[in-house]
Amino acid sequence: MRHFISLCILLLSFSVTGQDLYLHCGKLVDTKAEKVLTNKTVVVSGNKIVSVKNGFVIPKSKKDSVIDLKDKTVMPGLIDMHVHIEHETNPKAYLERYTLNEADVAFNSTQYAKVTLMSGFTTVRDLGGSGVNVSLRNAINSGTVIGPRIFTAEKALATTGGHADPTNGNNRELVGNPGPKEGVVNGVEDAKKAVRQRYKNGADLIKITATGGVLSVAKSGQNPQFTLEEIKAICDTAKDYGFHVAAHAHGDEGMQRAILGGVKTIEHGTLMSDETMELMKKHDVYLVPTITAGKTVSEKAKIPGYYPEVIVGKALDIGPKIQTTFGKAYKKGVGIAFGTDAGVFIHGENGKEFAYMVEAGMPAIETLKCATVTNAMLLNMQNELGQIKEGYLADIIATNDDPTENIATMENVVFVMKSGEIYKSTAP
Ligand SMILES: [Zn+2]
Repeated sequence: MRHFISLCILLLSFSVTGQDLYLHCGKLVDTKAEKVLTNKTVVVSGNKIVSVKNGFVIPKSKKDSVIDLKDKTVMPGLIDMHVHIEHETNPKAYLERYTLNEADVAFNSTQYAKVTLMSGFTTVRDLGGSGVNVSLRNAINSGTVIGPRIFTAEKALATTGGHADPTNGNNRELVGNPGPKEGVVNGVEDAKKAVRQRYKNGADLIKITATGGVLSVAKSGQNPQFTLEEIKAICDTAKDYGFHVAAHAHGDEGMQRAILGGVKTIEHGTLMSDETMELMKKHDVYLVPTITAGKTVSEKAKIPGYYPEVIVGKALDIGPKIQTTFGKAYKKGVGIAFGTDAGVFIHGENGKEFAYMVEAGMPAIETLKCATVTNAMLLNMQNELGQIKEGYLADIIATNDDPTENIATMENVVFVMKSGEIYKSTAP
């Protein structure tokens, strides 16, 4: 099967060189206007969309070819604002921190990248790994590796013992004393240096762990872990480099500090109070829900030995609350982005998030807008990604069913084009 898919990719890549592609779309989602249009032709030349025409237009030149998506629903490539492309959950994950070499992580990550792209996610925001994520992004951009377009935070920032302290839970011989270079910050000067180090290392944005987290080997999943001054120093320094800041946060106090400190997105947002929801709106901060991750950790925590003991209680407590908070925040008018925390669950299952969002009260068409137009805007790519429109990058996917009628179809993307190149297709 794998060989067959690789062969298809090879053939498809050859077939697109030097010609325009006419995509005949039975249904086409206008993610900006929140409408499903019918019978359209999208013309792709090179890596760009050159026009969107009414009806099924037949190309004049024999060189050009038609892709028949008449019985599909076509939409822009999806964007996931929260993945960890270097890793994937498994019962040995906590041991693998000591057994895997960087090269092992790199080889594994190429598989995660491929499966992510094949599931329709043509762009992802990677919110923290070891630095392999930067190399992976570069390898994908150069065409060496197949995967989505990556915007990466490189290493997430934490305070000592905080959610992204890389030596949490180690024995005393192995705890060391990580500092800003390793992404651990204590005080304003450290905060500035940690951001500048990420710039030097090739990051595209900054991620902070504003509160405790579920999967770190530490007692609290929600305590505030940065001072307001530290967060302000991070956000101000980030601005110098054109970085936005994403904040992991479950607890309310840490969330408030992150918003007041200047972050752009709150990840998870589990225990968000009404007051904090108002603060989100006032400061134009977006919630990235990650419902799929919440559901996964609470399920896995029931398997004896899957997680270290200190994590089980946190996973059972925090995991199931994420979806409810999302529903409430949405109804209160908080800005919502689309993000899943893939890696905490199996890569490629990112599409499950759509049905969970719908289940919590968001109309299907709005979930599609979140995963395209909204996310593109947050990545400052609103003029290139998130819409099927003249001049935009040709990131285009299709499903068998219309997601506004059957949202579960988002878990089975059957056509994937990224930058004008077809990676997956059942079309003749
Ligand atoms: Zn995460």
